[in-house]
Amino acid sequence: MGALPRLIDTHCHLDMLDAPALALAEARAAALVAIITIGTDLPSSHLAVRFAHENDDVWATVAVHPHGAASLDKAVLAGLDELAVDERVVAVGECGLDFYRDLSPRDAQRRAFVAQIELARRHNLPLVVHVREAGDEALDLLAEHADGLTVILHCSLSATMSTTASSAATTRRSPAT
Ligand SMILES: [Zn+2]
Repeated sequence: MGALPRLIDTHCHLDMLDAPALALAEARAAALVAIITIGTDLPSSHLAVRFAHENDDVWATVAVHPHGAASLDKAVLAGLDELAVDERVVAVGECGLDFYRDLSPRDAQRRAFVAQIELARRHNLPLVVHVREAGDEALDLLAEHADGLTVILHCSLSATMSTTASSAATTRRSPAT
């Protein structure tokens, strides 16, 4: 038996847990060496950054999730811009398109996605992208706006998307949560 692998959880939501400290303790016991907690709106992005400052093995991402895309106005974007310079922020996300649940109008989702691709570029950060039932359109927007950015795709992929994903940008896929 070799040593336990050094595991990184690249996508969790500590702010959504009733007992985040317990979850962190269990993660450490399971040999996780680093944990990235994902922002889904401005308040949760603030919380993600706070978790990262309070725990040496936690890092944060900041963004507005496509479900809340309609809430991404100038003030929220300015708030994300302020957070994105924090030394504990390692990506912009999760942002993207979700046409499965359609909780924000699709035009608002498209606008918020492009605005946050630009946010990632301004801060030279990777992009964590949530996509559901919108694969081809998400890839089109990435091809148009995300050239040169590192993109981590998260969530459900359509059949056509999985065959073309590598052409849009430097793309890796992570399992859905
Ligand atoms: Zn998530």
